[in-house]
Amino acid sequence: MKTTQGRLPSWYFFVRHERASRSGHRLLARRGILLGAGAVGLSLAGPRAALSAPCATDALGVCRTLALDPSGGLKIGLKTYAETLALNDRELVLTFDDGPLGAPTSMVLDVLAAECVKATFFLIGRNAAANPGLVRRMVAEGHTIAHHSWSHPWTFRQRSFEAGKADILKGFRAVDEAAFGEAGAGPRVPFFRYPGFADTPELNAWLAGIDVGIFGCDVWASDWVHMSPEAQFSLVMGRIRQVGRGIALFHDVRPQTAAMLPRFLRGLKAEGWKVVHLVPGGPRPVLIGAGPRWRSQTERIIAGRG
Ligand SMILES: [Zn+2]
Repeated sequence: MKTTQGRLPSWYFFVRHERASRSGHRLLARRGILLGAGAVGLSLAGPRAALSAPCATDALGVCRTLALDPSGGLKIGLKTYAETLALNDRELVLTFDDGPLGAPTSMVLDVLAAECVKATFFLIGRNAAANPGLVRRMVAEGHTIAHHSWSHPWTFRQRSFEAGKADILKGFRAVDEAAFGEAGAGPRVPFFRYPGFADTPELNAWLAGIDVGIFGCDVWASDWVHMSPEAQFSLVMGRIRQVGRGIALFHDVRPQTAAMLPRFLRGLKAEGWKVVHLVPGGPRPVLIGAGPRWRSQTERIIAGRG
């Protein structure tokens, strides 16, 4: 099966700008997978068992569901844009990009189910078409199914507007057909994230015109960089403590992310963090602006300036 792993060109640019530890990565990753999974009684051999179990009484859960309407356009996430959701202190939105993909996505879903946590999955259309069962499972388990293009091009800036639009529309259709068995003129869930955050003014304007919101993020796990689950856990906990709230980006196609997720969700619970579940509908979201010294971090990375 052709997957995005090993060929995601956007990762290349981000990898160049990250400072993650890679020491002893293969052995540690294997050990970390087992350690991380063991934290909630899961293993790679039998993660599905968690599905039949009820949530633990001390499960992390979801503190609130935030329904938001992006009609007329919305661009949020401080890594890329100067506004983001007005969340409370220690509130996180969990988002996962690039799935669905076999074992790692299945394990992510198992772990989320065990903790009664709902997330938003920004799916690649061709991955959804190849794995419709996983997409249906996401829907059945209450997660939000959002969009991340059909073919994950790096980047849309190197494509014509028409080619970019066609790729995004094909992604909308593929995800909706996998999730709901049919696709309408527009996406069922009007949430979109650009691969590598590489937007264009023309595509932004078109998406606003069809009432699709554009999601960046406020904090990311850098899980495009290979590292052990322990290193991944430490990195992401440190970063969320720094930002204090926001939209967090992970990749459910990454085994290291799936492996560290049990420990991460336990860590959130232990430190008093709350998970907010995004769904379409409702009013325009309340936003907060960045400070006066804000600059787009992703724009510098895309431009190769770090
Ligand atoms: Zn992506």
